[in-house]
Amino acid sequence: MKLAFSWDDGAPEDKRLFELHEKYEIPGMFFVPTRNREGRTVITPEMMRNAESQYVSFGGHTENHTYLTSIPIEDVDEEVKANQEYLENILGHEVCDFCLPGGKYNEEILKIVYRYYKTVRTADTMNFNYSGGVLKPAIHFYPRGFKSLFGNAWRNRSYSELIFLLTHPTNDYFQLVNKIIEKASKKNDNVLMIWGHSWELEKFELWDELENLFTTIQNNFKEKSLHYADMYEVK
Ligand SMILES: [Zn+2]
Repeated sequence: MKLAFSWDDGAPEDKRLFELHEKYEIPGMFFVPTRNREGRTVITPEMMRNAESQYVSFGGHTENHTYLTSIPIEDVDEEVKANQEYLENILGHEVCDFCLPGGKYNEEILKIVYRYYKTVRTADTMNFNYSGGVLKPAIHFYPRGFKSLFGNAWRNRSYSELIFLLTHPTNDYFQLVNKIIEKASKKNDNVLMIWGHSWELEKFELWDELENLFTTIQNNFKEKSLHYADMYEVK
């Protein structure tokens, strides 16, 4: 199994995530828009420069945190490109990974995004098999509940996970998540992407849950936790 953590939106609470990724020596990718049209605060260039390390990397998330399906297609290029330039100027190197705001896209949008980026991630859940192309996550680190996991597993044709859910009924979302990760860790060829928002971790008090997971990873399968960009065949 290969594991990848990524966090969206560049909220100020990312600072706590930077510290946790360093502490547990688990790589994390942070997708940061230049600004946020919803009014959320975005971390400063200085915070990004200070945080970047072996365990903390940054990727693009558009200029204004714009859902790319909500704007005219001719405006998509600028939304994507301007944010990449912004990040590359701050960090002083190429930025190759991108996350679609709200996970929204169509084929035309993807073509434009791939002009600039090597990897593109959605905001999906319950995907366990990577067969090239857009990166679709397995776990949203947020208590979505059994119904959401089940519905997404069905939609994404993750049938063995569907059966697993049915045979492991529990109301404890994170217990379930831990079990799903444990199950996935037994396969060699799968990729498990975990994503979330630091502001959600703060709002729903999920920091302890995340530290529990990091501890499990560190104890059991740390060697399988690779740098985000290393685990995919990039386009
Ligand atoms: Zn976002």
